[in-house]
Amino acid sequence: MDQILHISLENGQARALVASSTGLVEEARRVHGLTPTAAAALGRTLTAGAMMGVMMKNPSDSLTVTIKGGGPIGPVVCVASASGRVKGYVGDPKVDLPLKSNGKLDVGGAVGATGHVTVVKDLGLRDPYVGQTRMVSGEIAEDLAFYLTVSEQTPSMLSLGVMVEGGRVVGAGGVLVQPLPGCSEEVLQRLEALAPRLAGVSTLARQAGDAQRLMEIALEGFEAEVLASAQPAFACDCGRERIERALISMGEGELRSMMEEQGGAQVLCHFCNKQYDFSKEELETLLAEAQDAR
Ligand SMILES: [Zn+2]
Repeated sequence: MDQILHISLENGQARALVASSTGLVEEARRVHGLTPTAAAALGRTLTAGAMMGVMMKNPSDSLTVTIKGGGPIGPVVCVASASGRVKGYVGDPKVDLPLKSNGKLDVGGAVGATGHVTVVKDLGLRDPYVGQTRMVSGEIAEDLAFYLTVSEQTPSMLSLGVMVEGGRVVGAGGVLVQPLPGCSEEVLQRLEALAPRLAGVSTLARQAGDAQRLMEIALEGFEAEVLASAQPAFACDCGRERIERALISMGEGELRSMMEEQGGAQVLCHFCNKQYDFSKEELETLLAEAQDAR
């Protein structure tokens, strides 16, 4: 079962989020028909997005992570809610690169490292919060750790991993560690020493099976207290009504040309690949609504 644990370390000197996300990443792979490389790129981003999502305060808060590294996969996008629900997509789900010399999926090669990470947070205020940092490596974890550290000014260590075997996601997870104000030098050094262990988080996630066990393995030696837990999931909130509104907002001219040139419309939701079909008659009804709204 997928789970995210929010953990206090060493009596509040640091916080950690531990996510086991095998189920949701496999669902994303299945829905989008992702290659192993694309599954790793999107799966890492969805796992991090879910962790960043559950750290938001209000149930109605949401955030969008967009990673544009200039690589062949195109943009990697994740929308996360405060409950841990995520949806997302990559520009090209069929991108597949040879394994790197260390046997790992070449996510950095697919994503690229020349662009930016952009995070938009809708916190129910008049204007959304927007933060942007440059890419570091395209491996996602380093890029998002850099974003959290620089843009949100929260020093962060982040490990993300997705393991694919036989075309299926068999292990996925993430560990985010953030030292808090007042963290002692001794604890800081021990946290930094975790990096090599956390580099293999996909293997750890597979071995562990659930987040509780992953926490015990990944943060062994630390005094850890679980403060809260959430159940992340890959789920889209699209629906026919939302697509209708989007069509109406395209305006009369666009609707009319869809009716006349294509005799209808097929609209694909980027986030979940669901297709919505509209007949010529249905478009006529929407056109009337567009005219009324004018
Ligand atoms: Zn959808």
